[in-house]
Order: sequence, then structure tokens, then C-alpha cells
Amino acid sequence: MHEKTFIPFHVPSIGEEEIREVEATLRSGWLTTGPRTAQFEKDFAAYAGAPYAVAVNSATAGLHLALAALGVSEGDEVVTTPLTFCSTVTTILHVGARPVLADIDEDGNIDPREIEKAITRKTRAIVPVHLAGLPCDMRAIWELARRHGLFVIEDAAHAAGARYEGRMIGNASEGAPASDAVVFSFYATKNMTTGEGGMITTPHESLASRMRMLSLHGMSRDAWNRYTERGSWYYEVIAQGFKYNLTDIQSALGIHQLRKLESFIEKRARYAAMYNELFDGLEQLELPPESPRSRHAWHLYVPRLNLETLDIDRQQFIEELRLRGIGTSVHFIPIPLHPFFARMSLDAQSCRRALALFERIVSLPLYPAMSEEQVRFVASNVREILETAQAPVHAMLTEAGSRS
Ligand SMILES: *Cc1c(COP(=O)(O)O)cnc(C)c1O
Repeated sequence: MHEKTFIPFHVPSIGEEEIREVEATLRSGWLTTGPRTAQFEKDFAAYAGAPYAVAVNSATAGLHLALAALGVSEGDEVVTTPLTFCSTVTTILHVGARPVLADIDEDGNIDPREIEKAITRKTRAIVPVHLAGLPCDMRAIWELARRHGLFVIEDAAHAAGARYEGRMIGNASEGAPASDAVVFSFYATKNMTTGEGGMITTPHESLASRMRMLSLHGMSRDAWNRYTERGSWYYEVIAQGFKYNLTDIQSALGIHQLRKLESFIEKRARYAAMYNELFDGLEQLELPPESPRSRHAWHLYVPRLNLETLDIDRQQFIEELRLRGIGTSVHFIPIPLHPFFARMSLDAQSCRRALALFERIVSLPLYPAMSEEQVRFVASNVREILETAQAPVHAMLTEAGSRS
């Protein structure tokens, strides 16, 4: 029905440069991890200002790899947020550790005060998530980690190109505080994509080489660098590894996506500002949180419905947008609401703010392949739906308010 006008929740931006590089890779005869992955790692490290970068085949793999390489394991606890994608939590389970959820702050990110309450003698690591591309309060998190001797692994799946206090997420310049590992996602819907893929940055040389080794079966040498006295056939398995390496076909995409990332983010920020302006004065909607300390990567534009002013709920709002040809999503269904995590007695009581916010959030289309006209179309439909859906009691109150 809406074939012509439907605005999907996401459309990736793949250009001729990416297509030519993938073709060149296919013609080169080297398909798996090789020279293009080495270049992608080097370029990404330079972009983020990180001493080391290890390419992996997903952020999920990256989170698992970082936890495993740091030695987090059975008997350990890892504190993370309830408002995240499932794999932030499942990767903690993959290493045999226990995930502990600490509730969110007003901005939707994990609240450092809640982290502090969740820390026990078993806590080994904190995994903060920069929700929607808005950096967490890292200063407070690093301070907690320092005081309690904990690792910090940032889930930066939304935050490629975000900045915190002037430094890129992933930056680890000499002397400045930094996390042990920062994990980025290049999944198809993220700010830059390799179809599937991820990157881990770290300030530690030994951790980088351990993650690299574990990412390829725990082998002492990878295929590209394999050369020993016995020839290129020889390798040794020195640890229980994984199959988490990124292929050169994917890195061919990543090299060019990375070059475009700044312009992608500029466009995302411009569209987010347009939305903010077009929603100005609409009391049924609370605009997405921002922080003067940070550059938002604007991976997602997530306004919050002021439900008490409305006679529809979030589901009806989403359905109404769909009927008008607009795709949306919700980021995220809080972890304790999934049957699998609920069964593990992941304490929903400690996630009250996440559960309350969940009812109000909707992710609107926001990506560089959108046109300004489409942004305006989405905004005017949101406005129209919400203005018509004003709760009767609230309508009376606002009318009375404007008369007095
Ligand atoms: C997308 C996402 C992941 C997983 O990324 P993959 O590359 O698909 O494995 C992890 N955490 C968050 C917050 C995400 O949005």
C-alpha cells in the first residue's frame, strides 16, 4: 500500500567506493582476514585515537572476546545496564560470569550510583552501554573501577564517532583515563557498517595480542602472517580460542564506511536538530537527552512519550505511524522482560527506571540516506498523531491553564 512513500526504520548508505573495494577484494584472491583488515584496524585506531584495534566479526564477538581475554570467568560478577541489546548480557554468561543489572539514570544510560550499589566482592568488570550514541558518565565509572579494581569494557555499539569530554569514544591517549576495551558494532543498522562486523580498541598491547590470538582459534599465528622456520603450514594452538575474525570482504566495506563516518554523523546530528525543532512546544513528547559534555553520535533518535497527556499508548502510536507509512523501532526491551533472563532471576526490582522508561520510548527513522523532506514528513505525522491523541482530562487542564 505504502510502497512508494513508506519510510523504513533504517536504510544503509553504501556507495560506489565500497562496491569497488569489495570487487577488488574478490579479484585479489585474498578473501579472509588479510591486508584490508590490517588497514581497517590501522585506520580505525587512528580515527578513535586508540593505540590498538582488533577487528572482529561482530560486537557480540568483541564483548565475549574482551571478557574472555581479561580472564573474567565463573564466580565473577559483571555489572551492566538493563536497557540494552541482549548480547551485552549473554556474552557475560558465555564466560560463565553472573550479570548484575544496575538501573539507568535520566539520560537512559547506566547510573554510576546504581553501579556502586551493585558492586560486591565478586565484581570483576563494568560494561556500560552508550545508549543511542550518547556517552555514559565515564568519569564516574572509571573512578568506581579504579577504586574497586574493576575492568571496564564499553559497549560502544551505538557510539562510533561519539565524543566524551572532547575525546573520541575508544580514545586512550597517554595519561588520560581509559577503559580496558571498547567494543564497536558494524551491524547493518549501525552508524557505519560492514554488513556484520565489529572492532575492539584497547590501550593495552598484551590484551590486544591476546584478543587477536583468541579471535582465530587460539592459534599462535594468523593465516596472513603465518611464517615459521618450518614454512607457512605450521601453527600452534596455544589457548581455547574462537572464530571471531573479520574477513577482508567486510573490511573492504569498513575502510570506506569509516571515511564517511564523520559526514554520516553530521547529517544524523542535523536531522536530530530538525526533529527537535519540529517538535518544539509539543508537550506530548519529551526530546531525547543530550549532554554538553559529549558529542552525541545520534545512532538513534529516541523521544519519550508523555503518556499522562495522551489517550493512546506507545503501541497505538507505533501502529498509527505504520499506517501512515513510517517504520519505527524500540531500543530496547529491558533485559528482565525477556523470558530467558527473567528465568535467571535477573532482578527486575532493581530496574524500575528502565521498566518505566521502556513504556515511553520510540525510535524514529534517523539515517543519512533519508531526505530532509522525509524527516519533515515523519515529524509532521508524529505531531498530528500526538495532537489528536491528547487525553481529554489533560486537554481540559491545558485549556484552563491557557485561560487563566
Ligand atoms: C547491535 C548491538 C550489539 C551487538 O552488535 P553485533 O555487531 O550485532 O553483535 C551489542 N550491544 C548493543 C547495545 C547493540 O545495539
